[in-house]
Amino acid sequence: MESADIARRFARESLILTEGALSLLLSCPNVEATIERVIGDLRSANVLRGIVDAETVRRLIRPEEKPPEPEPPSPQVGELVHDKFRPVSAEHEGRLEVLKDVTGRSLGKGTAEDFHRIFTSRFEKLSRILRSRPGMEHAVSISSLGRYENERVAVIGMVLEKRRLKGGTVAIELEDSTGSVTVLATKVNRKVLERADHVVPDEVIGVQGKVTKGYGGRLRIFADQIEWPGAPVVRQVRKAEVPAAAALISDLHIGSDKFLEDVFARFVRWLKGGGETEKERELAGMVKYVVIAGDLVDGIGIYPEQYDELLIPDIFRQYETAAKLLADLPDHVTVVISPGNHDAVRMAEPQPAIPKEICPAIYDLQAVMVGNPALVSIEGVHVLVYHGRSFDDLVGMVPGVRREKPTDLMRLMLEKRHLAPVYGGKVLFAPEREDLLVIDDIPDVIHTGHVHIYGCERYKEVLLVNSGTFQERTEYMKKLGVVPTPGKVPIVNLMTHEFTVKEFM
Ligand code: ZN
Ligand code: FE
Repeated sequence: MESADIARRFARESLILTEGALSLLLSCPNVEATIERVIGDLRSANVLRGIVDAETVRRLIRPEEKPPEPEPPSPQVGELVHDKFRPVSAEHEGRLEVLKDVTGRSLGKGTAEDFHRIFTSRFEKLSRILRSRPGMEHAVSISSLGRYENERVAVIGMVLEKRRLKGGTVAIELEDSTGSVTVLATKVNRKVLERADHVVPDEVIGVQGKVTKGYGGRLRIFADQIEWPGAPVVRQVRKAEVPAAAALISDLHIGSDKFLEDVFARFVRWLKGGGETEKERELAGMVKYVVIAGDLVDGIGIYPEQYDELLIPDIFRQYETAAKLLADLPDHVTVVISPGNHDAVRMAEPQPAIPKEICPAIYDLQAVMVGNPALVSIEGVHVLVYHGRSFDDLVGMVPGVRREKPTDLMRLMLEKRHLAPVYGGKVLFAPEREDLLVIDDIPDVIHTGHVHIYGCERYKEVLLVNSGTFQERTEYMKKLGVVPTPGKVPIVNLMTHEFTVKEFM
């Protein structure tokens, strides 16, 4: 019986076999009899239509119907792995699509006009989202405020400046394409004052409040409501249809003498079925994707005195070493690589993918090379990957947020619908035609790194993950007072959105 015949036989029952299921059946010595029995079992289990995968078939085949066990291959040196390890994620092809990425379509020429355009694009995209919020649909333009003296209005604008006045009042200079106005948040309304504390320059916000005439006849708004574009509380999350999980990592810093090679090797061994319990091996077998959110290598000349801590002081050799380490990952695993501030691409964001000329050996591994940020659909689940340089800017600006709690910062990003709202800080912006750092559509997972501190949280049905690092504390981090959490790897089950943290330190 040929595979086409088998597929047809199942199709007659309205059942579709996956490739893995088909090859399992084909391997049975007495195919025809086994098939009829399996179909019978499915029918009595009331499975009347749909996809039949290898896992199901494996459960249904009886021991006496199984093909004779092949001789186990002798394990190679350094490759120990559990002999019964059969990764379930190896049974399907995998489905990955890059939905949004600057790589290969950078259009900016670097003119002042291009810079202006990023802001126009930012304003347009975010004001559109804000306008859909209750109370904001009738937002008026700033130049028309004269008509609304002593009335309550809604306006949408970009924050030019924020300052604290005597008495604790916060004054926000808000601008749209028609003009600018001062928005005041006073102690009278605690909630608004608290919100004003979270406002950062260059972001787009919505304000509601009363228009009054101030000194010199200039109009101002006493805010009773400040709004961010935000994210809906309830949303249809996208889920994988086949068993697959993604291990989210970042900040390997290969080339640094603080790169923890043995910890990384332990992670790889675990992926190959080296886990101690059946449950561990099952989880490892689900992992079909390893996503790297930047700082694959340590780079050269990134911070003062970095040279003293470099084991490999050559950027090409750093990537060659990286390629060797990544080549060790199991064959059924797809690696997605997005750059960070230590990688060899332009520093300005959005960063394009690390180019082939710098790391040909990684391209040879068929890794999926994307920019920073990048929106990738993995088995249908939308994962937004961003290195996280903007954390450095937000940390100093919003009270209460700390590097130690990266998911707090990620929540701000999601509410502000922007990965790097502040301009003129640590993040450099590349002049593009469009602001690609706006979070246009809500992803299912946001994956960042950069602070070398692990954090994971579900917020408004979005999984916020800041992956840990594979680098020990550097001298630079000591100066910053940062205590990293190396060796922690969050693993997201793409079918259920559950996450697990594995520790390899
Ligand atoms: Zn890093
Ligand atoms: Fe970084």
